[in-house]
This record gives sequence, C-alpha cells and structure tokens, in this order.
Amino acid sequence: MNKQQLIAGNWKMNGSLEANDALVRALVAGMAGAQCTAAVCVPAAYLAQVQMLKSGSALELGAQDVSQHVQGAYTGEVSAPMLREFGVRYAIVGHSERRQYHGETDALVAEKAKTALAHGITPIVCVGETLAEREAGRTEEVVKRQMAAIIHVNGHCISEICVAYEPVWAIGTGRTATPEQAQQVHALLRKQLAAATPHAERVHILYGGSMNAANAAGLLAQRDIDGGLVGGASLKAADFLQIIASARAA
Ligand code: PEP
Repeated sequence: MNKQQLIAGNWKMNGSLEANDALVRALVAGMAGAQCTAAVCVPAAYLAQVQMLKSGSALELGAQDVSQHVQGAYTGEVSAPMLREFGVRYAIVGHSERRQYHGETDALVAEKAKTALAHGITPIVCVGETLAEREAGRTEEVVKRQMAAIIHVNGHCISEICVAYEPVWAIGTGRTATPEQAQQVHALLRKQLAAATPHAERVHILYGGSMNAANAAGLLAQRDIDGGLVGGASLKAADFLQIIASARAA
C-alpha cells in the first residue's frame, strides 16, 4: 500500500532551550512542502517549548515514553492524558534503551501501547534483536516474540499502532542494516500483523538504526519500509530535513 511515510526524530536525552529553539525553527522553515509526515519525539521537559515553537506548522510532536498508568502514585512517570495536553500525537514505547536500562518487558511495552492508544496517542512500538541474537540466527524469533506481545494485548486496535524495527546493533553505532536486511524483517512483521488484522497494510513500519542523510533514500525505497525513526541525525536540522526530503508521499 502506498501511504505517506512517517519520519520521526528521537532526540533521546539531548537538547537545551537554546539548542531546541534553533533546531525546531530550522525544521519548521525547511519542511514547508514536505511530502511525508514528520515528527520530533522530545524529552518531556521540553514538550511545552516545542509545542509552542512548532505551532502552525506540519511538524508533529512526540514523546519518548508513556506510563502504562493513567494517574496516581507513580513518581517520575508521565501519563498519556498529560502528553495529550501538550498536543502529543506519537509516543515511542519499548525503545531498546528502555528495555535494556529500565528493564521494560514485552508485556509492559504492550500495556504502554494500549494506554497510549486509549488516549489518542499513536504508540511507536520498537522491536529489534541484539547483535548476539542476530549472530545466533534468532532475529525472526525475537522480533516475532516482541510483536506477539503487542498484538495479544492490543487486539483489534493493532492496526492503529506504528511499529519501528530497530536492530539494537544498529542504534547509535553507525552500522546500518542494509535495505535488504531491513526489508526482510519488515516483511515478516507485516505478515505477522496480517494474521491479526485485515488492515496490516495501513500500519506504518519504520526502520531505525543509524539512518542518516546518505542512507535514508535506499532504506525508504523498500516496499515494507514506511518511514524512519531517527536518533542522532534528527539533532542536525540539515540532516533531518534531507531524510524528510527522501521520504515518499502517499
Ligand atoms: C534511535 O534511538 O531510535 C535510533 C535509531 O538512533 P540512531 O539513529 O542514532 O541510531
């Protein structure tokens, strides 16, 4: 299905009031006429600032995580209704850094996706294998297991999510999956989704892992790659705009 691609930047724990101001102004100015949907997933502390800076533009706002709870005694957590108050449209869930450093399990990630959906936020659910898992020939088993948990908990709403295939060995390493390697995994994720919903073609399956201005076009040309989740390169306006320019229109 030919759908408009989605390019989402993941700033991770980077930024400052001053740096964000320059970056978002440059993005807003540079993306006029962009053919794809573009979003920046910013640290929670900067949501209000970026909401204001991007207002009136087509740039969408995203968060990097969301609590599975809606409110209450959960110190440090940020809820989906809170994110909505700042105009957040997307929330990354299950990023490998959260799985790795914060012990997030497949089941927790699935619950977070469910809570986001229930409050009008599209979860960008990350799946991906480590280098050891790839080298052991376990890529398919690992991503299918991660995806199965999401499908199990989200049932018929599954076509409303967005998936990001992010091989852990490619994140922040400068080592990108080849377009063919990525397409292979995207196709199997699509097949798994198709077994759960008649609307699998609608689901955006993004690629993430050292996507940059030079390699984006090749990755984004693949049949089942519907956009990108971009870390490091999303912090440089010129690079992120180049990736946006490489994306497909509907
Ligand atoms: C990410 O953090 O989601 C990511 C893909 O990072 P990078 O592009 O820097 O590899």
